Amino acid sequence: MSELNDLYQEVILEHNKNPRNFRDIGDADKMADGKNPLCGDALRVYVKMEGDMVSDVAFKGSGCAISKASASMMTQAVKGRTREEAEVLFNEFHRMVTGELDADAEDNHLGKLKIFSGVLEFPARVKCASLSWHTLNAALSGKDVASTE
Ligand code: ZN
Repeated sequence: MSELNDLYQEVILEHNKNPRNFRDIGDADKMADGKNPLCGDALRVYVKMEGDMVSDVAFKGSGCAISKASASMMTQAVKGRTREEAEVLFNEFHRMVTGELDADAEDNHLGKLKIFSGVLEFPARVKCASLSWHTLNAALSGKDVASTE
């Protein structure tokens, strides 16, 4: 477990320092705002669609290292995917950070995102890790505000 924790720390710190796709998209097709009042994280997620494919995705906002790193990795994970694939990832991610999916034992598409299973040890951080995913999901569903419930 400590190896996973080291990797988790390393990846979070790196993405926090150098977040990917940290910008707005002026002609975004969809966007949504997400807030996690427990921690003070606030993000806006922008999505550009090409047919059924997420051709570009980006975020802006402020928050803790975990929320920012998770948003950064979310954008990397869903760019170039279809809406349906992005929804599958959202569901798997959500189930993993709430302890319903054992990402090492069960089939999933999470790949690098598996490091966020580390938040299970820190329940207060679950919403930080899942905020960007809820916000993406809201944007894809045509809602402009995300619910983290
Ligand atoms: Zn946070």
